[in-house]
Amino acid sequence: MRLVRFRHGDRIATGAIQPGSDTIQVLAGTFFEDPLPTGETLELDDVLLLAPVLPSKLVCVGKNYAAHAAEFDSAVPEEPLLFLKPSTAVIGPGDPIRLLPISRRIDYEGELAVVIGRLARNVRAEDASRFILGFTCANDVTLRTLQKTDDQWARAKGFDGSCPLGPWIATDVDPTGVVVETRLNGEVVQHGNSEDMVFGVATLIEFITSFMTLLPGDVILTGTPEGVGKIVDGDVVEVEVEGVGTLRNPVVGP
Ligand code: MG
Repeated sequence: MRLVRFRHGDRIATGAIQPGSDTIQVLAGTFFEDPLPTGETLELDDVLLLAPVLPSKLVCVGKNYAAHAAEFDSAVPEEPLLFLKPSTAVIGPGDPIRLLPISRRIDYEGELAVVIGRLARNVRAEDASRFILGFTCANDVTLRTLQKTDDQWARAKGFDGSCPLGPWIATDVDPTGVVVETRLNGEVVQHGNSEDMVFGVATLIEFITSFMTLLPGDVILTGTPEGVGKIVDGDVVEVEVEGVGTLRNPVVGP
């Protein structure tokens, strides 16, 4: 099933799309309260998809693919390297990634993202799947110039629009072996597989929740495969996660 958040006319609502269908069953409420269908249906083409969740926080994992760590002459960390993006970094499918005048280099990073379904604290890896609502695509847009000069990455990773999410949440995905592909203006620039993650999804949930509580709707960005690169005004970036979908965003400015 795919879970969508969308705008239709003046209202914002949530919905569910059954496999093989493009019809949205409108839901009453958020995804986190076992929402019932209202009985109303809409066609996918007739709505504007929004970021599928509004997380309280996004917990991101750095250098979680060895080949990507090697791109920056880095070793793989011995334990997950975490950083945060603020909720205000989130934009939806189709929204423009707005470059900042300060940057000489802003990069795309295509990633598999985990959406948490219920409050998670001190979760054991073997129980982790019970806390996952589903999976979506993320672009960990990075102001690379500042990432190299700042000790903390709040600016480099947290600026407005630095986290495109979407286009929806896919609930029936096994995250252990999915292709994560990024295309820049139609050309494949990243082609990784989640089986190459240093720390898998269940391990990440155990590790993260041993330090901080994850709330329903919080998102984990699981790291990017090799092939990161610069985006400029006029580019179009697509992140496709196998079994999930494709997140597409134009690049604008500065
Ligand atoms: Mg990243």
